[in-house]
Amino acid sequence: MKPNINRERLADCFTALAHISSPSFAEDAVFAYVRSALEALGCEAELQDYGRGKNLIAYLPATDPALPALALAAHADTVEPCAQVRVIRDGDRLSSDGTTILGGDDKAAIAEIIEALAVITENHLPHGRIEVIVTSAEEVGLVGAKHLDMARIQAAYCLVLDSSGEIGSTATASPYHTEFVIEFCGKKAHAGIEPEKGASAIAAQAQVIHDFPTGRLDAHSVANFGSVKGGGANNIVPDHVVLTGEIRSHDKKLLDEHCARLLEACRISEEKFKTKNILTVTPEYDGFSVAPDHPLIAVVRAAAEACGLPFSAFVTGGGSDANIISARGVSCLNLACGMHAVHTNEEYVLISEMEKMSALLVSILCGKIALIKS
Ligand SMILES: [Zn+2]
Repeated sequence: MKPNINRERLADCFTALAHISSPSFAEDAVFAYVRSALEALGCEAELQDYGRGKNLIAYLPATDPALPALALAAHADTVEPCAQVRVIRDGDRLSSDGTTILGGDDKAAIAEIIEALAVITENHLPHGRIEVIVTSAEEVGLVGAKHLDMARIQAAYCLVLDSSGEIGSTATASPYHTEFVIEFCGKKAHAGIEPEKGASAIAAQAQVIHDFPTGRLDAHSVANFGSVKGGGANNIVPDHVVLTGEIRSHDKKLLDEHCARLLEACRISEEKFKTKNILTVTPEYDGFSVAPDHPLIAVVRAAAEACGLPFSAFVTGGGSDANIISARGVSCLNLACGMHAVHTNEEYVLISEMEKMSALLVSILCGKIALIKS
């Protein structure tokens, strides 16, 4: 099957989306655009308001009820600067004018989904129930996905479109992610006259940094100290420092072990420097891992082959809405969707890659979908 992607319609849709400013929690105009585009294609769409923000949940009813439901997900927000994006087209390439991001992350995905659904409906291609999830505030901690009303999702499988990489490639695993804050409470004293009466919070945090090496901890885990704040005048023993960081691991057991080691480092430092060290660990999201023989992988691989695209699977160190949706019982992959140099003003997309991705989606939704019949 060779779906006929409308290249100019796809480029226009992406450009229109990119021109709408949508920092996290201010995605209403993007939702309005996407909702109207999906409704014009016959989708039922509704906005789920969770207070701080919204998610758009839409579905195209099945034309072949024997085929299973499949969800496609993308996020509506972008990082900043994203006010007054001006899309520059240079042949196949779309970029900003260099003063803002482009927003290919993740508007390339949204445009690709809309184009795929347009091709499916105008060609009357048989398909199962297609659910479209567009989340808010992904960039600031997957907030929309964390509030997603799963009762409105029927699909047992979801393809999140939010990875870099060649079209046809997909992330099949992503780590567990935990953030931590350590507050070091010491005691002030005159550093020149009676330093013995002080307890240095800076010395205590240095001990923890020494005892808990960061970077790549093992084959599955990484850690990083992100910020240190505290201290004051040079003649005062510092009584307060806050150290923050994160630990990620594909293995939950290893993550717990590293957290335990960090706690132990805090205790050793506390004893040595007579400070009070308070460690607060906040799990951000669970990891996910899809086995190589999972039917969802078979579907994407078969669809990629049908489109002449090379399939490949990779493990990512980053998180996405796929982590959240997976943890709530819907199997997810995170597919590459043609974004480049994301989170920079040099960001760009290629129309030819967006075309390939829309074709891949049509092939997934209408071609080999029977493979994942539930
Ligand atoms: Zn993204």
